[in-house]
Amino acid sequence: MARKFFVGGNFKMNGTIQSIKDIVKNLNDAQLDPNVEVVIAPPALYLLLVREHLREGIEVAAQNVFDKPNGAFTGEISVSQLKDSNITWTILGHSERRTILGESDEVVASKTKFASEGGIGVIWCCGESLEERESGKTVSVIEKQLAAVSAQIKDWKNIVIAYEPIWAIGTGKVATAQQAQEVHEAIRKWLKANVSDEVAEQTRILYGGSVNGKNCKDLAKEKDIDGFLVGGASLKPEFVEIINSKQ
Ligand code: PGA
Repeated sequence: MARKFFVGGNFKMNGTIQSIKDIVKNLNDAQLDPNVEVVIAPPALYLLLVREHLREGIEVAAQNVFDKPNGAFTGEISVSQLKDSNITWTILGHSERRTILGESDEVVASKTKFASEGGIGVIWCCGESLEERESGKTVSVIEKQLAAVSAQIKDWKNIVIAYEPIWAIGTGKVATAQQAQEVHEAIRKWLKANVSDEVAEQTRILYGGSVNGKNCKDLAKEKDIDGFLVGGASLKPEFVEIINSKQ
C-alpha cells in the first residue's frame, strides 16, 4: 500500500482569532491535492474555533496532550477531551517542548502511547541539534529517540514520524533533499530492523524545518519523504503550495 502524502501545519504559539480565521478561509477556498492528508495544529485556545470553521476533510491537531485520564492536572488537556472536540491528531515530542519545556524521551514516549492507544493520531517528532550533527551523531540521536518510543508502542498505525533537525527549525536553513533523505532512510531501516517490515513500509516519515513554497518540491521527490511538518510557512498562503508539492 502506498503511503499517503501528509502535510501538517504547526502554528506554534502564533495567531489571533482573526488571523486564524483568515488561514482557515484560505484553506477552505483552495484547491488542495485530494491525495494529500492535511492536518493543522493551532494553539489549544483556538482548536474548537478552527474545527468549527474548517471544511471537512482537513483534520485538526493539538500541539500537545497529557498522558493521564481527566482529573486534577491543572493546565493540561486530555485525549478524551480532544476526541470529544473532534480533534483527531496531536503533535508530540516537538523539539521546542523537549528543549524549552524539558520533555524527556520517556515523557514523550508515554504521551505517544497514551494518545495513540486512545485513538488519536500522533505526529511524533525527532531530530538532532547542530552540535550533534557536526559531531556525526545524527543517526544515533534519532535511534535513541526511536528506541524510547518503540519501547512503549505496540501499534504504529496511528503514528506519523516527523524528522525535524533542530538547526533547520525556524532558521531558514533547510536540510538539503539529500540530507533529509539520508536520515529518513535511516529511520525506515531502524523500523525494519527493530519493529517490523510492515511498520517500516507503512509509516509515514515527514520532514520539518524551514520548509517553504520554494524548497518543498525538491524535498517531496525523495523516496522516503512522505510529507512535511511546516511551522512558519503554515501561517502564510504558500502553505497551499506546500500541500500541493507533489503536483
Ligand atoms: P519551521 O518549523 O517550518 O518554522 O522551521 C517547523 C516545525 O517546528 O515544526
